[in-house]
Amino acid sequence: MRVLGIETSCDETGVAIYDGDLGLIAHAVYSQIEIHAQYGGVVPELASRDHVRKTLPLIHQVLEESETTPSSIDGVAYTAGPGLIGALLVGSALGRSLAWAWGRPAIGVHHMEGHLLAPLIETPAPEFPFVALLVSGGHTQLVDVAGIGDYRVLGESLDDAAGEAFDKTAKILDLPYPGGPELAKLAEHGDPARFRFPRPMTDRPGLEFSFSGLKTFALNCLRTELPKAEDPEQTRADIARAFEDAVVDTLVIKCRRALKTAGRRRLVLAGGVSANRRLRERMNAAIAAEGGETYYPRPNFCTDNGAMIAYAGWHRLQAGQHEPLSFRPKARWPMEGLSRVQSATQL
Ligand code: ATP
Ligand code: MG
Ligand code: FE
Repeated sequence: MRVLGIETSCDETGVAIYDGDLGLIAHAVYSQIEIHAQYGGVVPELASRDHVRKTLPLIHQVLEESETTPSSIDGVAYTAGPGLIGALLVGSALGRSLAWAWGRPAIGVHHMEGHLLAPLIETPAPEFPFVALLVSGGHTQLVDVAGIGDYRVLGESLDDAAGEAFDKTAKILDLPYPGGPELAKLAEHGDPARFRFPRPMTDRPGLEFSFSGLKTFALNCLRTELPKAEDPEQTRADIARAFEDAVVDTLVIKCRRALKTAGRRRLVLAGGVSANRRLRERMNAAIAAEGGETYYPRPNFCTDNGAMIAYAGWHRLQAGQHEPLSFRPKARWPMEGLSRVQSATQL
C-alpha cells in the first residue's frame, strides 16, 4: 500500500510518500521560517496562506521524484490536529479532495502520533512497548506506548513546552526565530560552571514538567549579569549553556523515572527538541547506564515533516481505517482517545 502524507499544522509544509514494501520513497519539506522571522513568531493567517501556495507544488514534486502516478496512490493521510486551525484546514481540505478525486480512502492523522511514530521509520526501529518523550514546540509529554494507538500519558508540562521555553529564552537572548537551534549553537561556547539554573519539579515525585520558570530565571540572570559583564557575548553564551543544561537534566531525570514507573527499558524521543545534540548525548549515557535503549528520528524528522504523517496514516489505512467525506480538523485533540491499531510488527 502506497500512501501520500500531508503535514500543514504549523509553519512547515511537509509532503511524503510511504510505501509498505519499499518504505519512504519521497519526502519534501518547505519551511516558512523567513515569512515569520520578521515577526519573531508564527503568524497564523500568513501560515495558512503560504500552505495554500506550497502544498500542491510539493505534492507534484514528490510524485515526480518517486515516479508515482496518482493511480498508484492507495490512500491519503493528512494532519487533522492538533495545530493552527487555518493551517490544518488547508492540508485537510486538499488531502480529502485529492482522495475523493482519486477514489481512494483518506485518514486524518494526529500530529503528535506522527511525531511519536517517526522513530519507527528508522533502522533499527524500536519494538513495542516503549516509553516516548515527546518534546516539541507545543508539547512536552511522557507517554507509555503499548502499540499503535495504545497510548497512556504518564505526565506532561503544566505550562510551557520544552521547545517553547527554548524559543522564549532565545528571544530573551536576542536570538532570531526559531530560537531553539540558535540557542543550542550559542550554548556550545558557554561555560557550564558559571551559572546554575534550577531543575524544575525534579525534587518531588511524579512525571509532570514545568518550564516557564526557566525563561524567567534566564531573564533575571541576564538583567543582573549583563550590565557588569566584561564580555557580554560570553555571558549570553554562559546563560544559554546553563539554560540548556537545566532543560536537558530535567528531561533525563524524568525519563529515567518514567521508564521505572512504566516498567519499560526502551525510550523513544521525538519532536523538535529531540534534535538537540546535548540532550541526545546525556540521555543516551543515562539510559545505557541502566541497561536501557534510546531511539530517535533522524534530525530532520524530529521537527515537522510529511514522512511521519504518511507513515502513521499508512498504519491506520492498511488496518482498514478511513474517514467519511465530512472531515473536521481539530485545533485541540487529546492523544489518549485514539483508536488502537494492530501494528505491522505485531501482525
Ligand atoms: P507541536 O509538534 O507540539 O505541535 P511544533 O510542531 O511547532 O509543535 P516541532 O516542529 O516538533 O514543534 O519542533 C519545533 C521546536 O523544536 C521549536 O520549539 C524549536 O525551537 C525546537 N528545536 C528544534 N531544534 C532544536 C534544537 N537543536 N535544540 C533545542 N530545540 C530545538
Ligand atoms: Mg515549525
Ligand atoms: Fe510538531
